[in-house]
Amino acid sequence: MFRRGLVAITGTTGVGKSQLAIELARKLNGEVINADALQVYRGYDIITNKVTDDEMLGVPHHLLGFVDPSKEYTVREFEQDALQKIDEIHQRNRIPILVGGTNYYIQSVMFQNSLVRDPGSPKGESVAPNERTFEQERIERSNMELWEELRQVDPVMAENWHPNNRRKVLRSLEVLHTTGKRHSEWIAQDEEARAKEETLRFPTLLLWLYADTPVLNQRLDDRVGKMIERGMFKELDQLSRDINNPGAFSGSSTDFTAGLKQAIGFREFAAYLDATNDRGSSSKTKEELKLRGIEDMKSSTRRYAKRQITWIRNKLLPECRSTVTKTVKAHSYILDATNLNTWDAEVLGRGLDIAQKFISGSQLPDAETTSDTAAKLLAEVKSKPNSILAWKRHFCSVCSMSAEDARDGVAVEVWLNGDDEYKQHLRSKQHKNNTRYRKRLREDKVEGVEDSENGGNDSDTRRPSSSKRPNTRSDSDP
Ligand SMILES: [Zn+2]
Repeated sequence: MFRRGLVAITGTTGVGKSQLAIELARKLNGEVINADALQVYRGYDIITNKVTDDEMLGVPHHLLGFVDPSKEYTVREFEQDALQKIDEIHQRNRIPILVGGTNYYIQSVMFQNSLVRDPGSPKGESVAPNERTFEQERIERSNMELWEELRQVDPVMAENWHPNNRRKVLRSLEVLHTTGKRHSEWIAQDEEARAKEETLRFPTLLLWLYADTPVLNQRLDDRVGKMIERGMFKELDQLSRDINNPGAFSGSSTDFTAGLKQAIGFREFAAYLDATNDRGSSSKTKEELKLRGIEDMKSSTRRYAKRQITWIRNKLLPECRSTVTKTVKAHSYILDATNLNTWDAEVLGRGLDIAQKFISGSQLPDAETTSDTAAKLLAEVKSKPNSILAWKRHFCSVCSMSAEDARDGVAVEVWLNGDDEYKQHLRSKQHKNNTRYRKRLREDKVEGVEDSENGGNDSDTRRPSSSKRPNTRSDSDP
């Protein structure tokens, strides 16, 4: 007898989550609920990597491609919609299978109050109406000035935000202004309260589909080629037209900033698409821009996958583990999809076995014993969910460059979130390359900068990692 539970599947982009969800749904009498922040939007199926109707094999899919692309769809709306779907699926005596790579979407469904409430508004309503005035009053002030002000009044929050993250900095200032209490204090209080509550909504089985990074990276690279073959450029071209002409969408004036604009490929190929639409551009230029776009898209995808793993390891799994002492528990398992030849046994077979035991209420195996990969990864999982207040940001002065020092003349700031990420960064190829570059720079001061090694470096080298900023649970990059 199924105890009104939930099966959730997470993992990086391109690891095969959708396929596993469909295979499990067919065996378990389940229905799939999408938990990918971009796949909720209608259209643009290639750049958002949606499953096709054929691939669904008749399994019902919910919350997939149903939002008008010009609308902003928030995690709160997702939480409500997903809970409603889960309820309906339970009433049909079927199993809801929540699948997607947007981990804070999954978290919002699994856990009550996983979204940090808006301070000063006990029911969690938005305080947006005030925001504009507060923001407008400060329109003349630079990002740095605002950040400095925050550093004076709430240094903990200032540590959390990059000075250029104007919206977040303003928000934290506004919280103190309107409530008389620091934003960091609100968050600490909220986290403390949540730690005491019974927060898991359903008995949950979380399956983390994992592939070793080098293997995954190769698969992600190959996928970019396939997306191009399937017509990705046509979609990107359409997207940029739609963004420039929002009236094309049903009566909405919202822009795309919060939604599809974040699809990987949009920014990366912007220059190429501009050149394609410009008759003056030579075919040589176009070809160069295209190749650069492909490389940029590959490295953006890799960085996204890395961020997803960090989130699962530092937030989602610790949150699951914190339920072991509670009455309603979340069980988390890792399935190893590194070798696709063993998919049937390692992924589908094992996943199905665990899911059937979970559903029937039988004794579940120890997560660490299911594979070597599981043992290795679970050993790295933190015991407590990472509080946003625990993020300490580090600035790497070696990898950060002024426009004058940088090879390509573009200034770069490199910030790392938390001690672990900083330690990892200090050991990275990027940091070591930049240390050598710095050294040469000092030696060559008189004769100018040599650029001979530039071509051979890995594509992540000399890129700002500013996209890896800490996020609040309520509002972050998908
Ligand atoms: Zn560095």
